[in-house]
Amino acid sequence: MSAPFDLARQRFLTRCTVVSLPKPSPGAPPPSVVYYMHRDCRVQDNWAMVRASQLAREHSVPLKVFYPLFPSFGNMSSRQYSFQLAGLAAVEAELRELRVAFHLDHSSPPAAAVPAFAAAHGAIAVVTDHLPLRLLRSTNAAVAAELDALPGPVPLIQVDAANVVPVWEASGKREVGARTLRPKIGKLYGRFLTQFPPVPKMPAGSPLPPPTDWSAARAALKVAQVPDAPGLTAGTAAGMAHFRGFCETRLKKYAAVRNDPNEDAQSGMSPWVRFGQVGFQRLALDARKLGKHGEGVAAFIEEGVVRRELSDNFCFYNEEYDNLKGAAGWARESLELHNKDKREYTYTLAQFEKGETHDDLWNAAQLQLVGEGRMHGFMRMYWAKKILEWTESAEQALEWGLLLNDKYAMDGSCPNGYVGVAWSVMGTHDMGWKERDVFGKIRFMNYAGCKRKFQIEPFVSRYPPAAENCRKAGGEVALAPGVKAGKKKQKKA
Ligand SMILES: Cc1cc2nc3c(=O)[nH]c(=O)nc-3n(C[C@H](O)[C@H](O)[C@H](O)COP(=O)(O)OP(=O)(O)OC[C@H]3O[C@@H](n4cnc5c(N)ncnc54)[C@H](O)[C@@H]3O)c2cc1C
Repeated sequence: MSAPFDLARQRFLTRCTVVSLPKPSPGAPPPSVVYYMHRDCRVQDNWAMVRASQLAREHSVPLKVFYPLFPSFGNMSSRQYSFQLAGLAAVEAELRELRVAFHLDHSSPPAAAVPAFAAAHGAIAVVTDHLPLRLLRSTNAAVAAELDALPGPVPLIQVDAANVVPVWEASGKREVGARTLRPKIGKLYGRFLTQFPPVPKMPAGSPLPPPTDWSAARAALKVAQVPDAPGLTAGTAAGMAHFRGFCETRLKKYAAVRNDPNEDAQSGMSPWVRFGQVGFQRLALDARKLGKHGEGVAAFIEEGVVRRELSDNFCFYNEEYDNLKGAAGWARESLELHNKDKREYTYTLAQFEKGETHDDLWNAAQLQLVGEGRMHGFMRMYWAKKILEWTESAEQALEWGLLLNDKYAMDGSCPNGYVGVAWSVMGTHDMGWKERDVFGKIRFMNYAGCKRKFQIEPFVSRYPPAAENCRKAGGEVALAPGVKAGKKKQKKA
């Protein structure tokens, strides 16, 4: 049974909080409800779409979906934009079936484009989804001010459609870590983990716009060109098919071996989740319905609900999520104290980017990121910590870690990415550890620790330039099991 829309999922960004039909006046555009889409690029299983469709039907006006395209977004490259635009093309096709108009604009900045669209289309309400990043905050604040100034005025209603428990309901403050957020989410989980009401077909009548010119949209982008990641099909249908494959083959081993980079045990769902093509609430509902692999389901929900919603909590309550000002006091002080420590190795951004360090494991992870658009979750931690170890400063490590993650990873430029890098480099959601050079009290990870956890050789051998680059940089490569080392391996940090 689907549940009605829980009003706690929404908040008003405008002073205006009233949705009402205006008195008809000559020359005024016919009224509509506008869904200004950004994060949650899907039709069904989307609380923002549910709310917008509901308001449109309540007031007997058409629903129009408006997507204002940012010509660039942080360090996102053409690779992620390709995936995003292909997902939006699928949204447009699905909306057409429901007689809902889809408009994509790339001619003016979103902050101006949304109010202009709302005015031109007689919006009685604008509904939007929620992504707690600075660019969206400032854009939405500007949109809200313009909507309040319209003769009307028009409310801007923000719906948290990405989290099971809306971020503002889960907690009223920045949480220390998963252990403090988990019980808060736990209390509200039953209330919010409900089935979605379907978004129905709209009544016939309002004409649909011509189809989007996707090549013009691509041409408007101002981003670094990176080849598309192989083997990924965008869109909700492809994402859900991938998820069913995970449930059938890998979920059973997820709890036990997801931290082993040689095991293909993770879901690989993050690109679809990042671009809102699949909502995690759908995954949590479907995983629970399986009625098997209980430990795997529990671990998967811990990652996708508690850890992911913790990332949103961090960015929502901390605008400095991507720099040292956002670190906890102990971590910032400790990193500042050790910022001038001598580094045994330092690399340029270009050397990092090409995977040309003395560490074959690091190189392999970087080559996987560049070639495949992904990196195993365990390797991501090691990878980012080594960037801290081999750069001139913690600030530089944060900047380069985020740049490489967001340029190449198919799930980059989102709260999870900011928090993943922040956890590794500035101890976010972690505690202080034994003090050491460069890292201060930030948790340290090393090659020997990886070796104890999993077999390094098979992983490295999947990316042959990793070993070659390592040799060239003066390091020694891991040996295949059974092969005897000719001389003692050089110590790796
Ligand atoms: C340095 C670093 C950078 C990272 N960058 C990103 C990023 O750009 N985008 C991103 O989505 N995740 C990022 N993560 C978190 C995590 O590594 C990925 O979410 C996960 O590896 C994605 O693979 P998956 O979908 O197969 O995950 P699964 O293990 O199958 O998990 C299912 C879902 O849960 C969520 N999830 C899993 N682990 C975490 C976590 N630790 N924190 C928050 N959410 C999690 C993701 O949405 C994921 O799709 C980063 C972690 C680190 C340490």
